[in-house]
Amino acid sequence: MKNELKILLASPRGFCAGVDRAIEIVNRAIKKFGSPVYVRHEIVHNKQVVDELKERGAIFVEELSEIQDLSRPVIFSAHGVPKTVPEEAKIKNLFYVDATCPLVSKVHRESEQLHRNGYNIILIGHKNHPEVIGTMGQLPAGSIKLVETSEDVIKLDQNLFEKPLAYITQTTLSIDDTAEIISSLKSKFKNIKGPVKQDICYATTNRQNAVKEIASKCDMFFVIGSKNSSNSVRLVEVAKKAGCINSELVHTENKLPIDKIKKCTRIGVASGASAPERLVQNLISEIREYCNVSLEEVVVAEEKVVFKLPKTVN
Ligand code: SF4
Repeated sequence: MKNELKILLASPRGFCAGVDRAIEIVNRAIKKFGSPVYVRHEIVHNKQVVDELKERGAIFVEELSEIQDLSRPVIFSAHGVPKTVPEEAKIKNLFYVDATCPLVSKVHRESEQLHRNGYNIILIGHKNHPEVIGTMGQLPAGSIKLVETSEDVIKLDQNLFEKPLAYITQTTLSIDDTAEIISSLKSKFKNIKGPVKQDICYATTNRQNAVKEIASKCDMFFVIGSKNSSNSVRLVEVAKKAGCINSELVHTENKLPIDKIKKCTRIGVASGASAPERLVQNLISEIREYCNVSLEEVVVAEEKVVFKLPKTVN
């Protein structure tokens, strides 16, 4: 006999406006210019999305030097790129379309403006994440100092304050962890300036709030998203901190722990900003094979954000 299981579905979940836009840019480019179309880095961090676009005619490369046919268009991923990338594309005479999320571009413009105004800049973010590489690459090397933790703040040189000082952040960080780091920065550097509107984006904020709302009521919590998806990994951390220690990322390489799920009475499900909704529905269908599922959608915010597409693919 199947056991009774309630699934609390986090809402908002899944694709954000920046991801929607980036995928649409690749689809439109293939339609308009034919295949292949090159894409520098995974357009968004989701294996299924990347595999589908490959089938339609996208070729993914990590660097422009890997492009074999320089007559084909190339698209830059939603995470943003250092300034050297469009510069290299121009030298190679490549036709490129920039799918950087406008909210990441906003952070790029902030950093440039601060630099012009003579500020030392601290970026709160994760080393080696493509967004961080892109943001640091907006300015000459050494202009932005990266901090990942409050411990990193302790190590910062007090001399940084010889010039006015400002911080910016990656868009997909944990809101609570970032608040701690900002508070450490503010206690070490009293007049440090922050962004007028926080850099952590609306989609990250809403998805974390939805997880917080549900996690403490659940025996297990599942976040659908790839291992390299920063915002998805943060959602698992948020679920654990909010009270559901049995929280896991569900990605292509791991299987659902059905035996554990069968012992639960209530589980939570969320998905990262780069995970398609059909993966959520597939997960629910799989669980239904073993449990009598009742679904409850827990909505913490409505999202109506839509970003314009670049004219070149319209
Ligand atoms: S998570 Fe936020 S910053 Fe990243 S693509 Fe989506 S809207 Fe843009």
